[in-house]
Amino acid sequence: MTSDSKVCTACGSPSKLRCPTCMKLNIVDGSHFCSQDCFKASWGTHKAIHQTAAAAVSNGTVNVFNPWPSFRYTGKMRPVYPLSPTRSVPDNIPKPDYAADGKPWSELALKGSTQIEVLTPDEIEKMRVACRISREVLNEGRKAVKVGATTDEIDRVVHEACIERGAYPSPLNYYGFPKSCCTSVNEVICHGIPDRYEIQDGDIVNLDVSCMYDGFHGDLNETYCVGNVDDRGRQLVANTRACLDKAIAAVKPGVLYRDMGNIIQKVAQAEGFSVVRAYCGHGIHRYFHTTPNVPHYAKNKAVGVMKPGHTFTIEPMISEGTWHDEQWPDSWTAVTKDGKRSAQFEETLLVTETGCELLTGDFTK
Ligand SMILES: [Zn+2]
Ligand SMILES: [Zn+2]
Repeated sequence: MTSDSKVCTACGSPSKLRCPTCMKLNIVDGSHFCSQDCFKASWGTHKAIHQTAAAAVSNGTVNVFNPWPSFRYTGKMRPVYPLSPTRSVPDNIPKPDYAADGKPWSELALKGSTQIEVLTPDEIEKMRVACRISREVLNEGRKAVKVGATTDEIDRVVHEACIERGAYPSPLNYYGFPKSCCTSVNEVICHGIPDRYEIQDGDIVNLDVSCMYDGFHGDLNETYCVGNVDDRGRQLVANTRACLDKAIAAVKPGVLYRDMGNIIQKVAQAEGFSVVRAYCGHGIHRYFHTTPNVPHYAKNKAVGVMKPGHTFTIEPMISEGTWHDEQWPDSWTAVTKDGKRSAQFEETLLVTETGCELLTGDFTK
């Protein structure tokens, strides 16, 4: 939420309540009130917002709208609401603890710990399966990335590909995330929420997919150039992949997690790009996000030494301009502060005795 949206729409004093109809319709701007009195006094004009949003979901033609018209966007990307209805997961698919109430209780219980788990051979095998499924699902999703497709359509394809494989789409309801994957276009760094945005010729589109299968999570993402992307955009995407590959090549027992950032920043800086600092790679196995924390920027102070049996992601976000980020009022979508583009690639890795195994590697290549 911006501080903006937390003041009473009617009188400007701090807001204490939100219009329940607005909450149902995903309306943020203009939905806050300081008191029932202000809420009631505004009702005559306020209810028009609901009609606009409700008309938008009326069958057939969907009228799309920007839910925060007064928000100062850093670039050209806008949210395109309403979001489609929440997708469901069949009862027979095992679900993570957060699927019901949005809180990853088991992860939260470990908060503050810096200990990195060494997986047993049995657990490693389960990671291989979860990661292979995640890769298959990403490969299905990428077929849906084309001019004119909405990011919600990509989400539908990803969601269905997960379910076909008996897997749970890990992002769904993780801390309340409303969709089954993240779609991050142009200046969106990461955690973009699939909506009714139609992909344009020249966009760079990141698709981040995570699946939970048999109690273990896999996680990977790729950035695609759609149609006629300019040279600098293509260079950004290629450089980001190179950052990840160079870091992966250095993974082996004894290496410090904090060294990943030194390798990545060198590759990015050599071509004039910057490294996003707010979001990091992470340990992953029974928990979607756990120790170690793996920053992608140089001279970081990450804790931990790589050991055989560790599983984690590296997922550099590389930007054309500034590394500084900010968030949309949905409290998910991370964008560059200067509105310039950002790309990302991610793989899940296993540290082996001699180096590493790319658990989410593309077996089709
Ligand atoms: Zn991911
Ligand atoms: Zn990740």
